[in-house]
Amino acid sequence: MNINKLHEMTNWLNKEHLDGVILTDYHDIAYLTGFNSDPIERVLALVLFANYEPFLFGPALEVNSMVVSGWQFDTVGYEDNQNPWKMIASKLKSLTSGTQFAIQFDQITLSRYNALKKALPNVSFLKDATGQINQMRLIKSKDELQKMKVAGQEADKAFEIGFNLMENGISEISLASDIEYQLKKLGISNMSFETLVQFGAHAANPHGTSSLIPLKSHEMVLFDLGTIHDGYASDATRTIAYGKVDDLSEKIHAVVLEAQLTAQSKAKIGMTANELDNIARKVITKAGFGPNFVHRLGHGLGTSVHEFPSIVAGNDLILKEGMAFSIEPGIYIPNMAGVRIEDSGYMSKNGFIPFTETSKSLYQH
Ligand code: MN
Ligand code: MN
Repeated sequence: MNINKLHEMTNWLNKEHLDGVILTDYHDIAYLTGFNSDPIERVLALVLFANYEPFLFGPALEVNSMVVSGWQFDTVGYEDNQNPWKMIASKLKSLTSGTQFAIQFDQITLSRYNALKKALPNVSFLKDATGQINQMRLIKSKDELQKMKVAGQEADKAFEIGFNLMENGISEISLASDIEYQLKKLGISNMSFETLVQFGAHAANPHGTSSLIPLKSHEMVLFDLGTIHDGYASDATRTIAYGKVDDLSEKIHAVVLEAQLTAQSKAKIGMTANELDNIARKVITKAGFGPNFVHRLGHGLGTSVHEFPSIVAGNDLILKEGMAFSIEPGIYIPNMAGVRIEDSGYMSKNGFIPFTETSKSLYQH
C-alpha cells in the first residue's frame, strides 16, 4: 500500500472540489494499493474520498488476498450472483452524500457506466481521473526503480536461458515456452507479456507471434521478453545470430545497435521525448533504412508494460529524473529479416540507466 500516493490522490480530489473517485484500472489500483490482480470480467474498484477513508471493492474470493497484500483500509467483496455496482453504491452512500465523483474515462465501458449511473442516479461523473494517475505514475520512486531493476535482472536470466536453448530444429514456440518453463522453476512465475521468439524473416513482423517454424543455421533469432517482479514489469529485446548470417542481416543489426546505443548514451534530463526518438531515427535514416523503422522509439513501463511517457515523434514531454521507459529501435525488411534491440531503464542525473545488461552483440561467443 502506498500511503503517500493515496494522500496525493486525496489532495487532488480536494483541489478539484470532488467528493471522491472510483478507480477501475487494475494497474492503477495495484500502483496505489499494492494489490495486484487482473479481475478479468469481474469488477475491481478502488473508491477514494476527499474526506473519508477509502475502500477496495472486488470479488469476494479476492478479499483475503487484498488484506494479505498489505491493504489496511476497508474491503468489500461481492459474490458472483450479486450486482457489484449496487454494492459499490450502497457502501458509497453509507459514507457520503457527496455527488461529485471522478471516474476513468478510458477504463469504464458504456454498459458499466450505465450500471453505475443507475445505482447512483444523483451522482455525476464529469471528471476524468486518468490524467492525474498517469502523471503520478510517470515519475518512479527509488523503491519502484529497485523493483524494476530486479525485473530487469530476471529478463537477463531469461536471455541467458534462451541463448543456451538455441539448437537446430527447435521451434519458436518451443524456445519461448522453454524459457518461461525454466524461469518458473527458478521461482520467476510471471511474465509481463507472452515471450516472443522469432527466427530469420519471421522477425520482420514486429507485431508477430511465435510459431512452429524450426530454427536453421545462419538465421537471426529475436527474443522479446519481460517478467514481473513485485508488481513491476521488465521489457527487453535481443536479436542474435545462430551461426554466421548474411551481409544484410549483419548490416541491419549494426545499424539498429548503433541507433540504440546512441539514443541510450545521449538521453538526458531536459530533452523532449521527440528529440530522443529523433536521435535514434536519424541513425537509421542515414543508413537508408528510415522507412523500415515503423514504430516509436519506446514507451514507459512500471506496474504495466506500456504506460507514459511515449518516446515518439511529436511528443514535447520533457524527460525528467525517475521516468522509466524503453529504447527499442528496429529495422524490419519484409520477407527477409528483422532486428530490434531494446533496453528499458530510467532517467537519472547521469543519463539513462538500463535495467538489463545482456550483451547486444550479434555474435555471442
Ligand atoms: Mn517494449
Ligand atoms: Mn519488448
